[in-house]
Amino acid sequence: MATLEIKDLQVTVDTENGVKEILRGVTLTVKSGETHAIMGPNGSGKSTLAYSIAGHPKYTITGGTVTLDGEDVLAMSVDERARAGLFLAMQYPVEVPGVTVSNFLRTAKTAIDGQAPALRHWVKDVKNAMSDLRMDPAFAERNVNEGFSGGEKKRHEILQMELLKPRFAILDETDSGLDVDALKIVSEGVNRVRSTGDVGVLLITHYTRILRYIKPDFVHVFVDGKIVEEGGPELADRLEDEGYDRFVGVKA
Ligand code: ADP
Ligand code: MG
Ligand code: MG
Repeated sequence: MATLEIKDLQVTVDTENGVKEILRGVTLTVKSGETHAIMGPNGSGKSTLAYSIAGHPKYTITGGTVTLDGEDVLAMSVDERARAGLFLAMQYPVEVPGVTVSNFLRTAKTAIDGQAPALRHWVKDVKNAMSDLRMDPAFAERNVNEGFSGGEKKRHEILQMELLKPRFAILDETDSGLDVDALKIVSEGVNRVRSTGDVGVLLITHYTRILRYIKPDFVHVFVDGKIVEEGGPELADRLEDEGYDRFVGVKA
């Protein structure tokens, strides 16, 4: 059992107009086996939370802590965070010129595990995971993110998650830009990883749609850099009916 603990996290970002306060005291605990949905309007700071935990240099932590089983995540390099078992599916993934999906996955797996995966099993694992996600085997030989469609990027993220087996996965807007069929396939992938019971998932989303396929254990409503309401899956149903209006302007 592993625990990711976010305590009173405060984060600013440098903008052209000066330093802007974005996260204003976020407190959240995710345990392995749990899925937490973070839901909130655009611009509320959801991606900032994901990037801050991942160690993106643009974001400055001005207060609070993030720990993984008591270890200070914020003191770790980005690589160390990955080796500690944190996985962040980027909302806007970057291109990696000249590196194929196949090489990228193997390099990432080797870096995280500290040793190269046994080739025979690895090739089979990649093949199976790609087939589960209904990906063309030829996809493995394409360069990472080069000309990927929105749906291909999302499948590639989930493929990484299935193969890298993180302890905690932070999925930011995994549902954006997917048609219903792709959304189902991607959700099935997330649910397969969840069903191991070993991973904690932080599912960040603006829309309630993905929560029809991935049932969260806990829902947190995120407005203006803070969690303003928490509950079980029924809270997502209420948001689907009522939207975020009643929470905007609420001071937590
Ligand atoms: P969400 O993911 O909920 O839509 P974001 O975390 O992307 O929200 O953004 C929260 C606020 O912080 C927004 O007002 C956004 O414009 C601002 N912001 C986030 N990242 C940056 C950045 N790198 N530079 C300037 N402003 C940023
Ligand atoms: Mg946004
Ligand atoms: Mg966002």
